[in-house]
Amino acid sequence: MSKLEIHQFEAFSDNYGYLIHDAGAGLTAAIDTPDTPKILAALEETGWALTHILNTHHHPDHAGGNKELKAKFGVEITGPVGEAAKIPGLDRAVGEGDTVEFGSHRARVLDVPGHTLGHIAYHFADDGVAFVGDALFALGCGRVFEGTPPQMWASLQKIAALPPETTIYCAHEYTQSNARFAETIETSNDALRARVKEIDEKRARGERTVPMTLEVELATNPFLRAGEASLQRDIGMEGADAADVFTEVRKRKDSF
Ligand code: ZN
Ligand code: FE
Repeated sequence: MSKLEIHQFEAFSDNYGYLIHDAGAGLTAAIDTPDTPKILAALEETGWALTHILNTHHHPDHAGGNKELKAKFGVEITGPVGEAAKIPGLDRAVGEGDTVEFGSHRARVLDVPGHTLGHIAYHFADDGVAFVGDALFALGCGRVFEGTPPQMWASLQKIAALPPETTIYCAHEYTQSNARFAETIETSNDALRARVKEIDEKRARGERTVPMTLEVELATNPFLRAGEASLQRDIGMEGADAADVFTEVRKRKDSF
């Protein structure tokens, strides 16, 4: 099996776009379709021919380029069954437990509702990578627009249960502002403090903080740590239900 190649690029002001490529099979997929000109430039730069689109959710900065790219390249579009009517040009609707074949690679689909009700993630287990859209961010998580905080917490628990060495590709560079918030929550977390310093240094050098490994998120991301005694102690909710703690942390972030 040929390696799953991943090309990451900036789109709009803070989105990341991704092309994945299986050279042996001659396949290329766009993970979501932000900013069509940037996707076309990425195709030109890599020399890859677009054959597929894998959407995570219906927001315009994720599925907005579907129509134009399908008209141009005749690609096959896979996306969330829970919001099929909102995904332009959808060919294959998938949900929890479905397998998406991509050349010699395969992704398992996870339903991760909360940010939107049908939001899905793609986990390429053999490649050790997951594309999570706007469900999980570095030190953050997606705003809960359509679902409920407990539903979002359950979704994040699914991502948290992937192998810790998994490389997480999320759809926005929100890390530095997430860091400013995170350090107001788990004030006693030394790993978080060290990571925030690292992030500030990276951004000062103009470097990306995405992708990240799940292991680091588990140790530092307050939205994955609502069940941890230390975080609960730091916000005065020791012994509370994790979903309630998550709800409180999400609420604080919404007005931060
Ligand atoms: Zn979104
Ligand atoms: Fe987004």
